[in-house]
Amino acid sequence: MLEKMEIGEHTRLETQYEVREKIESALYTLQELKERVAVLKRKCEELRRIESERIEFAAKNVSRCDKCRHSLDPEEQVVVRDGNGEERRHYHRKCFETLLK
Ligand SMILES: [Zn+2]
Repeated sequence: MLEKMEIGEHTRLETQYEVREKIESALYTLQELKERVAVLKRKCEELRRIESERIEFAAKNVSRCDKCRHSLDPEEQVVVRDGNGEERRHYHRKCFETLLK
């Protein structure tokens, strides 16, 4: 009888221990998720920064050559338009000529 009670007590303690382990593991998982969220937030901010820089860059109307990727002086650029008249590509005159060869 006494032995049984002891076993019962032991089991109860073990269950408490297991519950605590589960809670600790859940807290650990939560912490990990928080860290991942923080990393994602940082990446998001970085992307937002790049995007706003890109928009700023476009707003300044400094286009880049679609062949050599160097900045393009509007004076010497060749603009390629699609069927709707939308500007699709910009090239240096020289770069555009090499495309035609
Ligand atoms: Zn070029």
